[in-house]
Amino acid sequence: MPNSSGRPSRPMSGNTRRPFNSSSSRTGGGRSFSSSSGSTGPRFSRSSGGGRPSSPGGRSFSGGNNRNGGRSFGGNRGGGGGRRGGRVMSTFDVSKFINLNPAKPVTEAPYVAKHTFKDFGLDKFLVETIESIGLIVPSAIQDQVIPHILDGHDVVGLAQTGTGKTAAFLIPVIQKTLKERGRQTLILTPTRELAIQVEQELRKLTPKMNIYSTVCVGGMNIRPQISGLRRKNHFIIGTPGRVQDLMDRGHIKPGGITTVIFDEADRMLDMGFIHDMKKILKDVPVERETLFFSATMSKSVEGLVHEFLRKPITVSVRKTDITNSITQDVVRYEHHNKFTTLVDLLKTEEFSRVIIFGAMKHSVEKLSLELVHSGIKADAIHGNKSHVQRQRALNGFKEGRVKVLVATDVAARGIHVDNVSHVINYDLPGTYEDYVHRIGRTGRSDKQGKALTFVPA
Ligand code: AMP
Repeated sequence: MPNSSGRPSRPMSGNTRRPFNSSSSRTGGGRSFSSSSGSTGPRFSRSSGGGRPSSPGGRSFSGGNNRNGGRSFGGNRGGGGGRRGGRVMSTFDVSKFINLNPAKPVTEAPYVAKHTFKDFGLDKFLVETIESIGLIVPSAIQDQVIPHILDGHDVVGLAQTGTGKTAAFLIPVIQKTLKERGRQTLILTPTRELAIQVEQELRKLTPKMNIYSTVCVGGMNIRPQISGLRRKNHFIIGTPGRVQDLMDRGHIKPGGITTVIFDEADRMLDMGFIHDMKKILKDVPVERETLFFSATMSKSVEGLVHEFLRKPITVSVRKTDITNSITQDVVRYEHHNKFTTLVDLLKTEEFSRVIIFGAMKHSVEKLSLELVHSGIKADAIHGNKSHVQRQRALNGFKEGRVKVLVATDVAARGIHVDNVSHVINYDLPGTYEDYVHRIGRTGRSDKQGKALTFVPA
């Protein structure tokens, strides 16, 4: 079987996680991909010196009219627009990112934490647990927000996924819950997958602590959620629509909530949850603590912060350009060899854990079946799959049984998988924001990542 030896071992668990630092020393890579017309596969050419062309526009792969003309490609060239349902034409301009391909290695100074986990004054058993799951040094966001949350401040944390933001809000709130058992925290996430991952992280951080939680997300049977809500929960983790529904039915009592956390608030707004978010907050007592985590500070996020947080402290650990640690390139294809070009790439050993983005649910499903047919271990996640099927695909990918995950933009939101070697945009994203979000699935924490975008020759 091709490439089965190239898989990394499972990175999620174990005690060997490296301390966080935000250093993203790039090694260059210097590889350019070009699909040779008429041939069946991509041609790899190593640029001399292992570096990249130094002039921003000087990529050998971007020929003629595609490079500087700022031309937008219609999403349907690659199988549909980038938005839900694929109806919207892509406004994504390839030239915008080709030139962002880093010209020379850049080394960011690693973040030096001011605290250890012991310094925060946390419960001894909690500190031991944190260390036992391999979190040795606080990440930048943890180092900076944990003291404020412990002090009871409202906090706005501007941090992307991969920065350790989940533990940054969970650790102090767990600490408060251990001290004050009557507390109840509501965590809202944009997707059910993210809600489940947050609960998994909560469980890892709270073994034998008698901390209870229920996940309340849409697209899943509501009955087990209702029965989960009958007991006393310290944490309720859910998506805004379902949480609002359960509040309306009286199963979640807003009066008992002491902390509300919005995880990936910007994506929640993007996904149209604004009314649910506002309605939920309106019913929760004003003496609550409110924590807002978001990768970006858009006007609408700012509006919500202004309306619902009290004298918040803002901590930002955003890199100016999240794409800094990601090498970006394009793959040129002729219509007849697009698929074989992809297969040839995937058979190379360096493509060890790959997320491929497609524009539409059915094309994503079809592509994954065709890859399996070509001997590549692939699975798909998209909106036509049940939650159980999506979760199974995601677990197979995380655990290395499946090396390629084909996904739509919507289904991939909030996916956190370590060590993704490549993101491939088989179909163009709808917008530049979608592009940035897609490629952010690789190059996480201090890892290097590669993003390749298929563009017609
Ligand atoms: P997040 O930003 O919450 O998606 O976290 C990304 C990954 O970083 C997760 O796999 C965490 O387990 C891991 N992580 C969180 N905090 C630390 C830390 N202090 N040191 C090393 N890894 C961490």
